[in-house]
Amino acid sequence: MPLLQNNSGIVYLVGAGPGDPSLITLRGVECLQKAEVVVYDYLANEQLLSYAPEGAEHIYAGKIGGRHNQGQDEINSLLVAKAREGKVVVRLKGGDPFVFGRGGEECEALRDAGLSFEVVPGVTAAVGASAYAGIPLTHRDITASVAFVTGQEGKDKYESNIDWDRLSLGGGTVVFYMGVTTLRRNMKRMVEHGRPSDTPVALVRWATTACQQVLVGTLADIADRADECGFKPPAITIVGEVVALREKLQWFDTRTLCGKKVIVTRAAEQAGQLAGKLTARGATVLECPTIRLVEPESWQLLDLAIRDLRSYDWVVLTSANAVRYFFQRIDTLGLDARALAGCKVCAVGPKTADEIRAFGIKPDLVPADYKAEGVVEEFSRLDMHESRVLFPRADKARDVVPRELKRMGAHVDSPVAYRNIFPDRLPPEALFALEKRSVDCITFTSSSTVQNLAAMMGEELMLDMLKGVAVASIGPITSKSCRDLGLKVDIEPESYTIDALVEALEVHFR
Ligand code: SAH
Repeated sequence: MPLLQNNSGIVYLVGAGPGDPSLITLRGVECLQKAEVVVYDYLANEQLLSYAPEGAEHIYAGKIGGRHNQGQDEINSLLVAKAREGKVVVRLKGGDPFVFGRGGEECEALRDAGLSFEVVPGVTAAVGASAYAGIPLTHRDITASVAFVTGQEGKDKYESNIDWDRLSLGGGTVVFYMGVTTLRRNMKRMVEHGRPSDTPVALVRWATTACQQVLVGTLADIADRADECGFKPPAITIVGEVVALREKLQWFDTRTLCGKKVIVTRAAEQAGQLAGKLTARGATVLECPTIRLVEPESWQLLDLAIRDLRSYDWVVLTSANAVRYFFQRIDTLGLDARALAGCKVCAVGPKTADEIRAFGIKPDLVPADYKAEGVVEEFSRLDMHESRVLFPRADKARDVVPRELKRMGAHVDSPVAYRNIFPDRLPPEALFALEKRSVDCITFTSSSTVQNLAAMMGEELMLDMLKGVAVASIGPITSKSCRDLGLKVDIEPESYTIDALVEALEVHFR
């Protein structure tokens, strides 16, 4: 069937997946990227909105509890109206649009109005919960069928379709959606209709997210257990022998930083690596860049040095950023790595060394200790007298290395290769989480990250907001900057690398 006639509007019903924002489909992302209007649900992860172009209209169509029926007509009319205006509309729905998502009704309304639509499937909650709770819904040795059932009764039409006898006696896995408030009644029904009362049951709440909670029991006692711990929606209920497999297959909620909320303060362009490693260990990461890297005010000194590279004996690069800006400038001047042919290259830190190798240069010296003092010590073993050293640096860098090299008799030029400035503002999500006191840890990976945060927030407010938040610093210099501002450092790795920092967090929260 041809869709998207002329330039007219279209509605993409997109399954957002169960919670983890990376579980959306590529097609879903493509649709969001061209959306002019996004109408999203309570269960759709809000982070997905960031795929929509800037300026796209975001409309929250939260349907929480009881408002279902009344709200649905309004949503249908809204979708029709926006599509009629000729807009590209994404209707972003939690899980899959056609599994208890009322996507069918929305499509009917659009069809009745003669409007185009497309449906993009999503990972439905049952499937997401199954994977992330370690409970396969089917298993060759246990069961060959699975049913998705609404836990709501009376309120909607699904109820009349439920054949409790077959559901209970069929022996297949049964997954209830929307079944927390009706849990006791539904579990009782399963037993009354013949399912053994010791059949295992799992409740999975906020499946696939860092807040995932799993409660395991049996048909006989799960309702009591849920009451005892005040278990709340949204959750799905998995009934069947397969639930027992969780004991062996649990993987998601056993990760070392599971459930921890961590603020990462690195520059936006650097945060990804640390954030990725923390996320992989189960943490929820809020990126809060306190640094923005920009070009120097003038390239003059660096350009002079680059044009005269052959006259230097050493080039010392102390960060991956320094490497990037330095080589970018070499490129801009129409040169390439061969400009360094006559110089020895010192890379401080393994990441810096990797970055240099990416430009085709093997560093001659990679000091084992990445602190400035360690670098100085390495050089003190060489004869630096009368040698010429180029030290492209950040504007706010410490001057230990150039100073000490000069003391050894070297001629040192240290032109600014990049500046680090404050971003315009701190991201509201991070501030909100701090205000709610829901943050477990904040990471500082250089002195500027903490100094800039203090400058942007105000010292007093920063100290107050970070009460009860574990402070993780990458090394002694950064820790000193933290302490100078009145912060107690709780986590500091022995070596000053991102990997070591992540490991130190794992140890702290073990
Ligand atoms: N279309 C959605 C279902 C919407 S009905 C889908 O395909 O998943 C709403 C119900 O879905 C909730 O009451 C709950 O039972 C379930 N649900 C949705 N997201 C969930 C999640 N992350 N964890 C557990 N249950 C979830």
